[in-house]
Amino acid sequence: MSAAREPIVIAHRGACGYLPEHTLEAKALAIGLGADFIEQDVVITRDGVPIVTHDIFLEDVTDVAARFPGRARADGHYYAIDFTLEEIRALRRFERVDDQGHVVFPRRFPSTQVHFGVNTLGEEIEFLQGINRSLNREAGLYTEVKYPAWHRRQGQDISRIVLDTLSKYGYRDADSNVYFQCFDALESRRVRHELGSRLKLIQLVGENAWKESSTDYDALRSDAGLDEVADFAQGIGPEISQLVRWDETGRPGSTGLAARARARGLKIHPYTHRVDALPPSAPDSDAVLRALFDEERVDGVFSDFTDVVVRFLSKTPASTPTTPASQSECR
Ligand code: CA
Repeated sequence: MSAAREPIVIAHRGACGYLPEHTLEAKALAIGLGADFIEQDVVITRDGVPIVTHDIFLEDVTDVAARFPGRARADGHYYAIDFTLEEIRALRRFERVDDQGHVVFPRRFPSTQVHFGVNTLGEEIEFLQGINRSLNREAGLYTEVKYPAWHRRQGQDISRIVLDTLSKYGYRDADSNVYFQCFDALESRRVRHELGSRLKLIQLVGENAWKESSTDYDALRSDAGLDEVADFAQGIGPEISQLVRWDETGRPGSTGLAARARARGLKIHPYTHRVDALPPSAPDSDAVLRALFDEERVDGVFSDFTDVVVRFLSKTPASTPTTPASQSECR
């Protein structure tokens, strides 16, 4: 079943503002804090198993370099696809570090001896379904396939693998409590039309400079591009700055993208709300959430800080359908 209420809070990599990203601990905390959907980023192991981690390489979030010295490729990266699931199970996760080894978010969970592991997609789904049952909740999945074109060049059809796994656990229809997300628009179209998925699909929107996929994101944000997206997806997942930007005085200004997407019936789920990494010139977290929910009228947001968004939305009753128009216009 789909979540009944909107807007939705999507726990970006779990409650990763408080616990290392994509750990089951971070996922459990996110449900406890009230998230409607829990995000999984998925990559594939050497033996073809979908695992939940953000990057196609492992060294920024695990001790792979210390445990398997000499297993990096020529570019210095330790690719998940070069390791078996058994090897990956031996890894310890920690807070994300940059390529200099410095912690990216210094105020988050500290370095400890606690063992955080890397889990398969199947394990995470069982874990979330278990908590849903014991808490009588219906937190959904929000599953991203990472670099599908790259995975195929490595011999793995990641979308097919992930769709099969979701289907095995009962997620296969338009009203299944899952969103399927991808940056690669060619792949999104393939998932819908060639692989025949009926799942709700969100087309993520990047910037061409990121080299995230072969998709031309400038074209995708045009009216014609959004028309095409509406043919295979239920919504878009843009970066916050693609919807709204703040000037030097801290005033928000709309780009107009949200309105154009909404006019085509597309949901809008921007990324990523972080209280410790605000968009440029945004005065504070509340200002970001006000601009997104009150001005841009987004349908949900990815956040590292589920509880902050839940608290904000609980104080914002105006979008409930029972509110008289005269009251909502007063806001
Ligand atoms: Ca993601």
